[in-house]
Amino acid sequence: MDALDIITDLENVIPFFQPIFSADEHRVIGYEVLGRYKKNDQYESLGGFFSDTNIPEEFRIEVDRTILKKAMEMGLSQDKDICFFINKDADLLLHDGGEQLLELLLDYRQKGIDPGRIVIEVNVRSHHNDIEHLVHLLNYYKTYGIRIALDNLENDGGKLDLIGQISPHIIKVNLQALRSVNIVPGFQEITYSLSMLARKIGASLLFENIETVYQFQYAWKNGGRYYQGFYLSKPSADFVERDILKEKLREECHFFIHSEKKKLETLYKIADKFQEEVSELLQKYRKVDEYDELLVNLAKHLDPYAFRMYICDEDGFQTSPNFFKRENQWEIQKEYLHKNWSWRPYFLENIIRMRNEKKGILSDLYNDLETGENIRTFSFPLNTGHYLFIDLSYNFLYEHQALL
Ligand code: CA
Repeated sequence: MDALDIITDLENVIPFFQPIFSADEHRVIGYEVLGRYKKNDQYESLGGFFSDTNIPEEFRIEVDRTILKKAMEMGLSQDKDICFFINKDADLLLHDGGEQLLELLLDYRQKGIDPGRIVIEVNVRSHHNDIEHLVHLLNYYKTYGIRIALDNLENDGGKLDLIGQISPHIIKVNLQALRSVNIVPGFQEITYSLSMLARKIGASLLFENIETVYQFQYAWKNGGRYYQGFYLSKPSADFVERDILKEKLREECHFFIHSEKKKLETLYKIADKFQEEVSELLQKYRKVDEYDELLVNLAKHLDPYAFRMYICDEDGFQTSPNFFKRENQWEIQKEYLHKNWSWRPYFLENIIRMRNEKKGILSDLYNDLETGENIRTFSFPLNTGHYLFIDLSYNFLYEHQALL
């Protein structure tokens, strides 16, 4: 595709629209506007044209402007709450200080598209050197009600600082990584962190490139408020009926909810079983007042599940050594005595919860700092104001899929 062909044939430069669905209503809430070039009744993507830095910026800006104008013109026919997600390369945006775009959008405000319905998907390259200007410009746009989405986050967490600086309304997460045979290591954990971060800063997650039901479930499970991808709807030259997938999405969601609830119920049952078993053991050994001896006895019974045990007071100071299983032998690690764990996430919350509810807690799945394995911890309040921690081995979790 020759750049000059395109720039001299703007008539055949047109917008495509890819529907974006919401998690709360299962209907179309907006469209990402994409560029296409019509040639011999075929539509070619203009993605390559826009990212080609050998093409003069003026050309790219002109083509981009043509697409946006056509999209806005067509958008006038849409419901007053339909949003338009428009792609902007940070460099091109800064080329004229962002003035042209704003002018165009304000022009369409007059015609009936409120700037609050515009989401700018800003694509920032990792080592953008004019980040300060960009942040300034985006903040200026925000004062008009325009929303900002951070696009093309590379799923490596490498742009976390950008999220902080730009404070976007929406973070787009690309699920393409889930499709490949070699899933990016830690992808799951990064998505999870993004969902937590988004929650803290009041941003919403939009999962894109959803191409299978599995990816859709993943998006739902990881806090996705918006969904986009071929599995739901392909980009096309026209808009779609808003409720086109309402039934399908509701049904699938129903299935996700059902299986997630089943998993959570299994987790509760497993926690209850631990509760019962540990209570009985402590009752059995109630006369043992030395923690070392108590742990030796517990280790005999909990050997199939546990690989580490210790006791802390309610401030998180360890009041027993570690009992650690290495190659099927329990060993005592005295150096852990008096160490403090109050700095660990959820530690004190869990202590207070156990104290008040007089019940044990099964933790979430996390990676153990020392063994590097995925584990869970069952913690349990002893009636002395001390708390017993039992780290469950990966092998045990593996036997119970609900635990993974
Ligand atoms: Ca995009």
